[in-house]
Amino acid sequence: MSALDPESRDCRVSLAVDGPSGAGKSSVARAVAKRLGYIYIDTGAMYRAVAYRALRAGLEVAAHEAAIGALAGELQFEFRPVGEEQHLFVDGEDVEGPIRTPEVGNLSSPVSAIPEVRRHLVAAQREMAAGGGVVMEGRDIGTVVLPGAEVKVFLTASEQERARRRQTQLTKRGVARSLEQILAEQRERDERDSTRAVAPLCQAADARLLVTDGMCKEAVVDLIAGWVREAEAGDRGEA
Ligand code: C5P
Repeated sequence: MSALDPESRDCRVSLAVDGPSGAGKSSVARAVAKRLGYIYIDTGAMYRAVAYRALRAGLEVAAHEAAIGALAGELQFEFRPVGEEQHLFVDGEDVEGPIRTPEVGNLSSPVSAIPEVRRHLVAAQREMAAGGGVVMEGRDIGTVVLPGAEVKVFLTASEQERARRRQTQLTKRGVARSLEQILAEQRERDERDSTRAVAPLCQAADARLLVTDGMCKEAVVDLIAGWVREAEAGDRGEA
């Protein structure tokens, strides 16, 4: 193990990646974590899982807000490697498939606006990040969950570009969705995520803004991994 091997360093920092849906956060955050040997935490998957469990229990947001809040506090979340991927397990059940459907995706936005749901999930996320060496991705990581994160990135792209990327993702999973429909759903989620009362989507004052239109994924990953290495060097007193 070299001195710069992530496993052997005690200078591992936290990276917060926030931004709107379809900005490429997940694939970029996952790749940066892999490159650095950091733990990757997809907080959106946790909100989706609460939506999925609420749906399965027949709980509707409008009528059962308190029950969904209580449900969020009872769930045990764990990210585990499955082959080359990382899946979210809830109470031991692999929920990776069901949480990625458009239906659950759309429902996760109103579910995530329930303050009690956020309170429980933020607590669980802080616990997961306690040791540092994490790449945590979401909407409120730099502003609420990990305000002390050493590196914060706000990743975005134009509305059209984000919708195109989402369509490619869904097509790969065998889900047919027109660009118009994706754009409409995306606008609705963006609007709700940005205007909700609790932890709205916004760029932290000390976050770096990265607009990825026209950039390939590798270039984005290189840039962010470089920022993390700079922060690690700063922690070692080399800056
Ligand atoms: O990132 P993803 O699209 O999987 O997130 C699903 C939903 O969860 C988003 O629409 C957003 O409303 C919510 N979310 C959130 N805070 C986070 C992560 C996701 O409110 N930190």
